[in-house]
Amino acid sequence: MRILITGGAGFLGSHLCELLLSKKHKVVCMDNFITGSRDNITSFLTAPNFELIEHNVTEYINVDGELDWILHFASPASPVDYLKYPIQTLKVGSLGTHNALGLALAKGAGFLLASTSEVYGDPSCNPQPEKYWGNVNPIGPRGVYDEAKRFAEAITMAYHRYHNVNTRIVRIFNTYGIRMRANDGRAVPNFIMQALKSKPLTIYGDGSQTRSFCYVDDLVRGIWNLMNTEIHEPVNIGNPRELTMLELTKIILQIIGSNSKIDYCSLPLNDPKVRRPDISLARAQLDWEPAIKLEDGLKKTIQYFKSKV
Ligand code: UDP
Repeated sequence: MRILITGGAGFLGSHLCELLLSKKHKVVCMDNFITGSRDNITSFLTAPNFELIEHNVTEYINVDGELDWILHFASPASPVDYLKYPIQTLKVGSLGTHNALGLALAKGAGFLLASTSEVYGDPSCNPQPEKYWGNVNPIGPRGVYDEAKRFAEAITMAYHRYHNVNTRIVRIFNTYGIRMRANDGRAVPNFIMQALKSKPLTIYGDGSQTRSFCYVDDLVRGIWNLMNTEIHEPVNIGNPRELTMLELTKIILQIIGSNSKIDYCSLPLNDPKVRRPDISLARAQLDWEPAIKLEDGLKKTIQYFKSKV
């Protein structure tokens, strides 16, 4: 197959490029490098099945030749990034998704949207099943990402229902692993880099808020299974092991053997208090569940970040 990945030079996009190249597919990577990085795709640039198009998906997209799938992963995805690029985040989720769907329709290609657990906002139920509609503050600082992705889901379903595009929607929960940016501001890279530099670990709030972290290899395997299953409704992909941020810092400090202190900082507005995926649907329909233990995934990630210190 020939597959376009928007945001192909990002953290998740580059892992998808790698997975699809390993399965002998042709990959067209589109990125404007606002948060993606050339380093992430350097090793693919010489591969005969790999093409790079430097383009902002928010502008009209044109790709020559046939396409079998479009995987729409372009978007800032770390809270720090989408607060820095609020308008671009809204535009890529809305205009960018419209452009990518239009291209899928024109090419007769399948379309997979990278959605997010952020559509659930600060959830009033835990774990979150796909049928939960969420608790999002549309005008809060995170609203630029949350509402863009909620719009993206709505327009994806509309293209499926009204234009019969073969669509998929994956709701991605917190994911970590190699090729994350050391300075992307998220909890895992922040804590690892701080511990490696023997600096205090910055916990926002009292550290009792929870997240559930999935290693990137598990995540891309789930996405591949979803592409190969006819489910048009959203599917959660994530690791259901839930832990507090304080617990996460303890595990990271223990693996690194660091005795960095904790620096308690103010909690960002609308920071979700809990987050954990209900993955019953993925288990039943995709025959998928995560296989990589948090401690093992963190060890690989720490190894990667050691070269960035
Ligand atoms: N967080 C933290 N310290 C940091 C970075 C993040 O305590 O240096 C917290 C953040 O407030 C949130 C959780 O860790 O409660 C996960 O944040 P992240 O930015 O990784 O992603 P989110 O799940 O909020 O999208």
